[in-house]
Amino acid sequence: MMMISEEKCLKFIDWLVSEVEVSGKGADLDQLENDPSGVFYLGKISPEERVALMGLGDRGDRLEPCSIGVRFLLSDEISKSINVEASFHLWIKNEEKIWKKTDLFKFNFEIQIPSYKNSISIGNEKILKGIKEKTGLENVSAEIRVDRNTLGEPDELIVTFVNCSDSEIYANSDGILYESKLTINNATHKPYYLEALPDSFRYDRRIEAYGINCSVYVKNKYIETTDLTIQDKYRPDFQHDALKDIDLSFKGLSEAPLEKCKSLLSAYKKWGDKKWSDDKLHEYAGQYGWSDIMLEEAKNAAHEYEEEVKRISNGIDLLQKNELIMKSFKLMNESMLNLGANYNSWRPFQVGFLLANLNSLVDKESEANLVDIVWFATGGGKTETYLGLILTAAFFDRLKGKITGVTAWSRFPLRMLSLQQTQRFANALAAAEIIRKENKISGAKFSLGFYVGSNATPNSIPVEPRHGQPDPDDENMPNNYKLLQYCPFCHKDTIKMDFNRILWKLEHVCVNTECPSQGALPFYIVDDEIYRFLPTVIVGTLDKAAVIGLQSSMRGIIGSPHGFCEANGHGHTYAKRSRFPNGCLVPGCKADKKPLPMDENLYGMSFRLQDEIHLLKDSLGAVDAHYESLLDSLQFEITNTRAKILGSSATLAGYEKHIDILYKREARVFPTQGVKIDEGFWSTDSSQVMRKYIAISPRGVTLEYAVDKIITKLQILIREIVDKKINIEGILELTQEDVDKLVDIYGTNVIYGNTLRDLEATMRSLETQILVKGELNTASLTGQTAFDEVISTLKRIEEPEIDYYERLHVITASSMMSHGVDLDRLNIMIMLGVPLTTSEFIQSTARVGRKYPGFVFVMHKIGRERDAGIYRSFNKFIEQGDRFVEPIPITRRSRRVLERTIAALALSRIIFIHEPKSEDNLTTVLKLRKYVLDEKLDESEEVEKIINSLELDINIDASLISDIKNWYNIFIRNLNDPTGTFRFPSELSPTGQPMRSLRDVEENAPIIGGLIK
Ligand SMILES: [Zn+2]
Ligand SMILES: [Zn+2]
Repeated sequence: MMMISEEKCLKFIDWLVSEVEVSGKGADLDQLENDPSGVFYLGKISPEERVALMGLGDRGDRLEPCSIGVRFLLSDEISKSINVEASFHLWIKNEEKIWKKTDLFKFNFEIQIPSYKNSISIGNEKILKGIKEKTGLENVSAEIRVDRNTLGEPDELIVTFVNCSDSEIYANSDGILYESKLTINNATHKPYYLEALPDSFRYDRRIEAYGINCSVYVKNKYIETTDLTIQDKYRPDFQHDALKDIDLSFKGLSEAPLEKCKSLLSAYKKWGDKKWSDDKLHEYAGQYGWSDIMLEEAKNAAHEYEEEVKRISNGIDLLQKNELIMKSFKLMNESMLNLGANYNSWRPFQVGFLLANLNSLVDKESEANLVDIVWFATGGGKTETYLGLILTAAFFDRLKGKITGVTAWSRFPLRMLSLQQTQRFANALAAAEIIRKENKISGAKFSLGFYVGSNATPNSIPVEPRHGQPDPDDENMPNNYKLLQYCPFCHKDTIKMDFNRILWKLEHVCVNTECPSQGALPFYIVDDEIYRFLPTVIVGTLDKAAVIGLQSSMRGIIGSPHGFCEANGHGHTYAKRSRFPNGCLVPGCKADKKPLPMDENLYGMSFRLQDEIHLLKDSLGAVDAHYESLLDSLQFEITNTRAKILGSSATLAGYEKHIDILYKREARVFPTQGVKIDEGFWSTDSSQVMRKYIAISPRGVTLEYAVDKIITKLQILIREIVDKKINIEGILELTQEDVDKLVDIYGTNVIYGNTLRDLEATMRSLETQILVKGELNTASLTGQTAFDEVISTLKRIEEPEIDYYERLHVITASSMMSHGVDLDRLNIMIMLGVPLTTSEFIQSTARVGRKYPGFVFVMHKIGRERDAGIYRSFNKFIEQGDRFVEPIPITRRSRRVLERTIAALALSRIIFIHEPKSEDNLTTVLKLRKYVLDEKLDESEEVEKIINSLELDINIDASLISDIKNWYNIFIRNLNDPTGTFRFPSELSPTGQPMRSLRDVEENAPIIGGLIK
């Protein structure tokens, strides 16, 4: 693998960005055949009259500005005048209809700062005259306006550079000022303070000056307007000085963890004593202009730090006192060492998290009341953090006698995430399996199940498949379901797919003869196999929870199966069905059932994990809230245990309320933040640029047009470098090897759209508008993209063709790729408008610049108020994005949602609770009727259970409670209706069948009443 320094990458991306800027305003041209107003989208100022005639008001001035300017607060220091310079070019058409650019016009004015509330306009005549002398044009001019705004404290000065040309079209000029710029000298100013929000003490709220229709660069008393707003984001440093000498290697922790963990804790305490001391907080208060309230908030935050110290310290005590915890922790580290990853050590925060959460293994009852959220910069390694805890729990389970069954079910909101994460999970479990075997720990193999709700994997392999179902007799069928690229045991590309007819298993088999896996990999992707073998860890999509209302075999995941098949390799058995007369899910099996191999209560899983919790909002969140309750109540009723919930979130806005609504639990976050947001203990900002954010507000052209221009420019530049038409080695002092690498990592552009419509328009435009040498190869990664296409696109990105011209050049993507896609080769993104939520903005842009520095052009839909607002404070928006995150809209008190979930809430109790109690199955109306007549199911008791499982409150939830009662009433009435034609219990539901996926709800249907902060 070729390496390249960060410095060279930065030099290169700065060059790319400046080339785009230059071409966007036309600084690289002095002659054109086309009308320049349609070619350039930066640096233009249109005639004020013309913009006014558009009749769009403020919006018009944002879409096609007639001025640029600067706003700043006057400082106490007395300055009588400012020095203002305005500069621009004009384009003039000659007799051959060729447009030519004039020399630069530059006008300088010494302007008295107006006293109280006055306005000054200056320079119109001088500029008019200057232009006329050089060009003969008589109606092109501009002026400087200075306004003093005395409404606030202190007074604000607004300096604008306005195009005052006539609005008519002229024979040989368009009246537009190009490459316009305004600079101000001697602008003695003081900063604005962003409004104080909760948590403000952590952030620098100062803004030196605001741009008007542009951005500003400020240095001391000098201010200049710029066309692009650029804000850098720095790479987090997880291993700063206070942590450098602490050995947190997998090896070290697998041998003697105690001392190492203790030194981590003492470093944390030492750091905290310094950073969170009262003296220090008072010092900050002075330095950053904290109010008393902010100081108070900071002092409270110090307690959160102290709590975290306690939890870690408690974890260390457990290691010391509990032999099995110690052993599990060591074995987990040994497994990580086995992972074959290119790192061999934990980041300190990961160990902090592990220690803080060890208690959840021993004190299950009280820990289950808390949801622990990992909140960390994307890419910080949270997946491995979870895995560390899950593996520790898996070993601990085995050592405590849980010899089979599910330890953790890890759920992701989107399918693409699962794909990439699956390999990482598989690798971790394989590593742990090797260690389990070496240490002769009894029980089933550690295994992984892939449990997804889309059409990606089959629910079962039917003996007689219908159209579209997997055919066991089709030799090629297994290949359609190859989900692991590499063998998790030997990490080689040696996986073959196979269908094992004898055991009725779809198998990933490693054909490497040296591989320690031996036989089929413990990796299950067919739902039925997951129920039969109950993998140690299940990964999948959230919507799969819907199965609970439909599938009696899911009982093994949340509770316990019914028994175990006598036939070797068949696994657990469930309720008898016509297809499975003895309850074994292997077709045609006639073997007897034997008792479960371990105590029923041990089957309850220890953890449910939820990645990207912030995405569980609106209808999806509301529906899931009910299903979470259902999972909890069934697990508790069957096994007397509750799962602990672990999650990650990109945002902490209103998280306590959000977690309460979703899970009916309290929330706790790890890690707590430092006093200043960029200097925490667990991570601090390094000086390495990770990502550059560049705000663009295209002037006088459509956003799509500007995007076409940018893509064209970027693609032409790379092609010219590949073809050696640009001597980039010379320009940037690079070697040929550097250039190859740069072409590799900056040759593919991502266009990110928030709506499908935007993306489709872009796709069409890419096909027709981008004129570059050779083909422009494009691919899509959206919710609409077929699964196999996603896989092949990911593969092409990861392993690009050798010839640049054959590679993928442009990827159009939607929020589907904003989660968990780690592709080092994607480093340039063009974003079509600011996404509706800040968390989507943060997540999606985090897809570029993961390993190498990247950049994002944020194209503002400047006509929209929200985009315009963000454009004005773009630097702070990037720097402090977390604070701009909106609260998550969610409620569980929706009758409309209950209408969708009630069938599952009621019917799942029949298949999970009642059927196992009955001697017979309860699959038909006749049988269920008899069961009810025998007084084995009591209507009011069932209603009570459902109300309790949702934790409804008789005072606030009266309408929901009455809906549940009514539903059950009709259900029983239907059941007893002698004239009814119902055959199956689910048909008795007055609200229809249980949902097949949690996404059955219209995603965008607004839910009222639940906005939280
Ligand atoms: Zn292998
Ligand atoms: Zn069997």
